[in-house]
Amino acid sequence: MDPRYVLRYPFLESSKEYVRDRGLSMEAIAADQYARVHELARGRIMDAIVGSEDPGALRGEVEERILSYPLARFVVAAVGDRNLVKWFAHREAEVSAGHLMEEDADFVLAVGKELGLEASAEGGAADAEARRVVKGVRPAGVDRMDAEKRVYWVTVTGYLQARQNISGPEWDLPNQRLVSGRIGLNRRRYVRLLQELMKRRIEAGLDQEASARGMGNLGRIIGQVRDMVESRRKAYKPASIGKVTITRMPPCMRQILGMAQSGENLPHHARFTLVTFLNSIGMPPEEIFKVFSTAPDFKEEIVRYQIEHITGQSSGTEYRVPGCDTMKSGGICYQPDTLCAREWMSSPYVYYRAKGRKDARKGEGSTS
Ligand code: SF4
Repeated sequence: MDPRYVLRYPFLESSKEYVRDRGLSMEAIAADQYARVHELARGRIMDAIVGSEDPGALRGEVEERILSYPLARFVVAAVGDRNLVKWFAHREAEVSAGHLMEEDADFVLAVGKELGLEASAEGGAADAEARRVVKGVRPAGVDRMDAEKRVYWVTVTGYLQARQNISGPEWDLPNQRLVSGRIGLNRRRYVRLLQELMKRRIEAGLDQEASARGMGNLGRIIGQVRDMVESRRKAYKPASIGKVTITRMPPCMRQILGMAQSGENLPHHARFTLVTFLNSIGMPPEEIFKVFSTAPDFKEEIVRYQIEHITGQSSGTEYRVPGCDTMKSGGICYQPDTLCAREWMSSPYVYYRAKGRKDARKGEGSTS
């Protein structure tokens, strides 16, 4: 395989084979003569932790950069931190997806096939059908500005499987153009789905224990990475929102908050709902901001902008907490309990207020 592709897509089987053919064990790469590879691996991980905007910042010889990927994986596994695994997989997939946008269509299709989302991009009548403007509305999935003029056709099952963690109306099934049981996507959207699959592939195996005992330099790098993970956590330590407050939260919000705090990437509508809810119960924007700091796709400026927008600081419109019906149709009404079943239960905020009154009555009862 061309080493340039190994560099851009190190998670592909052919890339792994390329590295295997070098016949280098991890112990061998840990030796001092590979000090530059160590630095590159460390830089790669730091980039994932701090969210650098410049993937080209990691410079080195091609072979050194290629070896830095398996070494970085080894270090991430040895650190053994779930958030770090997510941050690393997210960043690596994001960078590779950026490259994939520039490749020729045959290569994109080959990557899609390997990742399990095979597409056909034949063009012709089906493409014309996908691009047809219906009642003045251009079908979702076909970008007006798509210079490639090609539609990538994927099966509905493959589409649903890949988009699990992507939300927003433009991804909802009813908004897709379906022709003969296949969904038509432009390159940008097809690659976005592949990015999710890349992330899953990169994550695979990183939860297995790895020990750097006796590997000299690597122990030092692992220590530095651990410190960096800790400082990101400390800098954006999720707010303690108080025991009483948490017990008043409805099951949906506890679930979403737990996902955010354990480093899961929240679907857009879950993130929106959590911000509106925390804002409605009086959490200051700065504390809401900290709740999202462990998300793999955390970008300080973007998160600040979103919170300021939703809480009305910058937009002048304070968005209200969505109702239970909306939550249900969005698939984020998690494990409703008996209080949720009351006929007047209309939103997570109503739940929170009702639970507060209930708890207060209990408190009065216990002191009398
Ligand atoms: S019923 Fe409403 S408050 Fe209860 S879990 Fe569902 S969305 Fe949340």
